[in-house]
Amino acid sequence: MKYLLVFGLLCIVSLMACSNSINKETVLSMNNDYFEDTLKKRKSMEEWKKQLTEEEFRITRQKGTERAFTGKYWNHKDNGVYVCTCCGTELFNSKTKFDSGTGWPSFYDVIDKKNVGEIVDKTLGMIRTEVVCKKCDAHLGHVFDDGPKPTGLRYCVNSASLKFNKK
Ligand code: FE
Repeated sequence: MKYLLVFGLLCIVSLMACSNSINKETVLSMNNDYFEDTLKKRKSMEEWKKQLTEEEFRITRQKGTERAFTGKYWNHKDNGVYVCTCCGTELFNSKTKFDSGTGWPSFYDVIDKKNVGEIVDKTLGMIRTEVVCKKCDAHLGHVFDDGPKPTGLRYCVNSASLKFNKK
């Protein structure tokens, strides 16, 4: 009986230690993500200006648009991943890129919805859905519902908002 009691106590203590360490790890990783996101978002306009080219700054930080058929990726066909030009977050895979005929890089899907945010845009007398990098709030472009299957979406993105990582 005594041994059973000691064994039981040992089980409870080791269980507590185990769950405690998991909690600590989870909380730590959550904090790291939080601080990383916050640090990225806290870059001032001056810091972005130093990091980016004039065109990249105008488009990503001031919601500009590059002229059609002038960006470096509208007709780019290599295999790889398009990342945010400001913070390197993975946004679009070349597998989902298609020729929309618009003169802007177009994709029918994102790599991960967690990385791409949507904002209602009522400028220029239209109601459109702006897409942004969720990690650093960079303006990417707009999403429309006239894209090809399987999603029916067309992410119309500025080349200047993207960098390409060949795979
Ligand atoms: Fe970003």
